[in-house]
Amino acid sequence: MSTARPTGAPAPGQLTFVAPRRAKPARHLADLTMAERRAVVAELGEKPFRADQLSRHYFERLNGDPELMTDLPAASRERFTAALFPRLLTSVREQTTDGGTTRKTLWRLFDGALVESVLMRYSDRTTMCVSSQAGCGMNCPFCATGQAGLTRNMSTAEIVEQVVAGARALAANEVPGGPGRVGNVVFMGMGEPLANYKAVVGAVRRLVEPAPHGLGISARGVTVSTVGLVPAIGRLAGEGLPVTLAVSLHAPDDELRDTLVPINTRWKVAEVLDAAWGYAAATRRRVSIEYALIKDVNDQEWRADLLGRLIKNKLVHVNLIPLNPTPGSKWTASRPEDERAFVRRLEFHGVPVTVRDTRGREIDGACGQLAAAE
Ligand code: SF4
Repeated sequence: MSTARPTGAPAPGQLTFVAPRRAKPARHLADLTMAERRAVVAELGEKPFRADQLSRHYFERLNGDPELMTDLPAASRERFTAALFPRLLTSVREQTTDGGTTRKTLWRLFDGALVESVLMRYSDRTTMCVSSQAGCGMNCPFCATGQAGLTRNMSTAEIVEQVVAGARALAANEVPGGPGRVGNVVFMGMGEPLANYKAVVGAVRRLVEPAPHGLGISARGVTVSTVGLVPAIGRLAGEGLPVTLAVSLHAPDDELRDTLVPINTRWKVAEVLDAAWGYAAATRRRVSIEYALIKDVNDQEWRADLLGRLIKNKLVHVNLIPLNPTPGSKWTASRPEDERAFVRRLEFHGVPVTVRDTRGREIDGACGQLAAAE
């Protein structure tokens, strides 16, 4: 796996909050609200109901190729293909593990940028982990994605297409376990979702709106993660989208968090947690605190106590993540006994805690391992 920085990527230690200016991906049906789709269809000289028809094909039947939409006039299909269905993602490589029920796809975007998505099928649900940026500018030192810097923001449709691709594979019975559907989407692939706010919120709307507007996934099944972009958390709380917010905290004290999550130098732990409680109050959704346990770095019992004191009696749940090894990294997962002690200290404070399973580790598909190398 290469960790070479792409041309124009930031030097280590440099935060790139704003994506570099680059050519944008072409407009796609999934970028648009239903009203915007109708407007485009009218501009093409077609009847407005065609927008509903196209939307049903795409979001209900998961068909993204107008040439296969045989209920459309042949002459219109080409126009719709050009105006609303550009090819956005090209599969470069598929890797599977867990008997085929975990499947990571490497995608090439129109401009050559590479991103990854992971489908994880469990006995009772299927989760898609999607990327929201090509690369990431947050520069967390323990994360493979962060080492490569930010290439660019993804568009709404580029994000939605990852989910639609997973839904297609499930519907086509390509994933062991029989035909199924995507019930959960987590924005935990490449990128900091809230640094690409508009496209991510657009994608969430397409995911949760019922067909023909969108895919009809329950908002309760959608999780948006963030390293703690405080103003964006406040904005998300006002969107009327009761998705789960996952805050990647990784340390309860500013001294350590400044080094593990460099954006902490801008928004401190107390501000991030205040924003999280504001989010919980506005949405009545339990906030998930993500904490990658790193051996001898952030896994001491006193840190578990500090974390417990900061978050006890709140609408919260802690997800401990055994750190996934990344090539050439000095960081490694905590010893099992330290992990158990950390859990016990949080439970002592009455904080609900689980240790996340490490699905996808064998194919570098677990958290902090998506580096999109060919
Ligand atoms: S951990 Fe998340 S926010 Fe940090 S560099 Fe990696 S992808 Fe970006």
